[in-house]
Amino acid sequence: MNYVLSKEDLAPFLAQLSKRFQVIVPAKNDSGIVTFQEFSGQEVCLETERLSSPKKFFRPAKEKIFSFAKKKEGYEVKPVFDKTKRVIFGIRPCDTHALQALDELFIRYYGLDQFYSSRRKNTLLIALQCTKACENGFCQSMGTSQAVGADIVFTERGDEFFVRPETEAGRAILDRKLFKQTGDAEPSSKISCKVSLETHNLAENIYRGFESPVWKQEAERCLSCTSCTQVCPTCYCYTTDDEFEFGSGSKSSRFRFLDSCQLKRFTTVAGNHMFRASRSSRLRQFVLHKFSYYQENHGMQLCVGCGRCISVCPTKISLVEIANSIQKQVLEGAK
Ligand code: SF4
Ligand code: SF4
Repeated sequence: MNYVLSKEDLAPFLAQLSKRFQVIVPAKNDSGIVTFQEFSGQEVCLETERLSSPKKFFRPAKEKIFSFAKKKEGYEVKPVFDKTKRVIFGIRPCDTHALQALDELFIRYYGLDQFYSSRRKNTLLIALQCTKACENGFCQSMGTSQAVGADIVFTERGDEFFVRPETEAGRAILDRKLFKQTGDAEPSSKISCKVSLETHNLAENIYRGFESPVWKQEAERCLSCTSCTQVCPTCYCYTTDDEFEFGSGSKSSRFRFLDSCQLKRFTTVAGNHMFRASRSSRLRQFVLHKFSYYQENHGMQLCVGCGRCISVCPTKISLVEIANSIQKQVLEGAK
């Protein structure tokens, strides 16, 4: 059974949920930028265009993963798991696909990253279908324009939402006084992206362009600012650091930080050897990881076509233009 919710009743619904969950919504901050933040009655932003994703609630920029202390019998290690009961409202379809890609790595491939999976299993997702394409989005090319793995899917329809619960947990949080049953067909959420990526044999074709001069040409504009990796909903590269406390009974802590493949430091190992010293090699790593390596290792793309890395790049580098141009060269060279 599907439902409708009047837009006027969204805030009361979220306020009700806030009694049982930490409720996260997209809303404008003091600088007018849309971020995912805790709901406290502020206006929820329904605009499609936004640079932020809810990744920080699954892979925070900084997280304490365990504390450790020296005891007589050895070290005592205490992991820190975030078990906050959370509801994220307004996650867009591309970002639901991004979570699928992260689940593949942190839950299925690595066995179980308990820091990630604890957040994941304690979070309900209320997706908001897009009814309009983002400026630089290419979700149609990537097949990510429809929400996946959400507990409830909302679609805007005039001054109301069409509501499709997808899981038992999702159905259980719908307040029957606010949500009215409907037998209507679901409104169309077909969008038309301006940006398009050729995806036929993408992983193979782009890898064949490993030595293409395009990497160097594009990298001449790259500032290694890391903006692309910061806004990307699937970038997960990280580093760790320890904070030591000395003295009897003291507890030291290990933290995990998001890092960026665009930094020289990230590719530097002991002996000061740098695996990717040139900007072109780092830019190539970013694009090949998204379109080629992840496909080869996990059977899925690590790019969900949100276009944020294109929107945020100060020098207008576009991974779509790079990928299209390399594929064109490779295919023309093969003729
Ligand atoms: S945002 Fe643009 S300039 Fe900055 S690191 Fe990424 S590709 Fe380079
Ligand atoms: S690589 Fe760019 S377009 Fe792809 S998911 Fe990351 S930010 Fe979005």
